[in-house]
Amino acid sequence: MKNLAKLIVNLIKAYILLPLKLRNKQDVWVIMYHRVLPKNSSAYEREEPGMVVCPETLNMHLDFFKKHFDVQGLDDALNHAAPSNTLKPKLVITFDDGWSDNFSHALPILKKHNTPSTIYLVSQMIGTNRTFWPNIILAMVEAGESARIVKTFKLEPTVPATISQREFGAHIINLMKCYSDEEIWSTFERENWIESAKDDDRMLSWNEVIEMQHSNLVEIGSHTRNHYRLSKDLPKNVIENEITQSVIDIETKLTSACKHFCYPNGDTCPSAIEIVNASFHTSVTTRKGINRFPIQPHNLKRIGVFDDISDTHLKIACKALRVEGKSRHSISDFAAVTVIVISIGADQIYRLRNGSSNGCVNHTGTPTYP
Ligand SMILES: [Zn+2]
Repeated sequence: MKNLAKLIVNLIKAYILLPLKLRNKQDVWVIMYHRVLPKNSSAYEREEPGMVVCPETLNMHLDFFKKHFDVQGLDDALNHAAPSNTLKPKLVITFDDGWSDNFSHALPILKKHNTPSTIYLVSQMIGTNRTFWPNIILAMVEAGESARIVKTFKLEPTVPATISQREFGAHIINLMKCYSDEEIWSTFERENWIESAKDDDRMLSWNEVIEMQHSNLVEIGSHTRNHYRLSKDLPKNVIENEITQSVIDIETKLTSACKHFCYPNGDTCPSAIEIVNASFHTSVTTRKGINRFPIQPHNLKRIGVFDDISDTHLKIACKALRVEGKSRHSISDFAAVTVIVISIGADQIYRLRNGSSNGCVNHTGTPTYP
């Protein structure tokens, strides 16, 4: 009964309150994706849950976004002189890192919905078989070498033994972020853990980048040269090289200017901010939230979405409402919920509970709440 009540409240929030709350807003929502992989692929099985959506989820998201938002490219979305004429907030789609699955699985869906997006490339990894250190860790966890990682990096995992392998990998990666990228890579070298990317974990080739750009739906931005986290501990010359040389790498291969930047892992420091602000039109972080009007073009907040929290229409709607209305529910919201609950008949509730609720019940039949 408690679950049913929660389900009803969530349905009302998602389908009635959300459209009301988004009306007449000039805010900019920036959505953050990383990888797009089929659920039955080994790369999906291995990847951190927070890094991936399957093509079906991306397709459903774009439907949802087009219904509730004015989906635009970064430049248009931040152009104050061109306010949204749809009475909906603006929304921008972004992809981090430059994974080859963005070409094979995301691009066809972007084309289907005619949706603009920005992809941030790690310029020295494009067209190579280099991989990120978290992916080496994930492959080791998959190969049963977790204990070796924990011992080498003196980690103290705090998750239950019942956790899934990929969630354990994500936990280990999070703990390892207390080390600098240099410390991690030098330990990998000492332990001989350096590996090439598995074929389904490879980055885009430059030809794929060019083809995506020619679709006129994908703008290319920078995500540094080597994905170093730009914290204050990194030498200033390295920070400068990571930022400014990435522009040269990208503009040498492409015909258009590289105007947008994304901070790896969301880490920033004053010297990085100074260089980025002087070199790019816009920059994004991993700070969560909505960019409220009037918008500043740098250090934009984003909203990360991935399968576990957004693979049904109800989940993504509730996520959007939670982001929009965080701690700001008004008395009129509660009044609206109360009136609507009273006005819904018992048979309507029964139908919602038994499957006509647009995918809000998972395969075990238990209602899921994001
Ligand atoms: Zn990244």
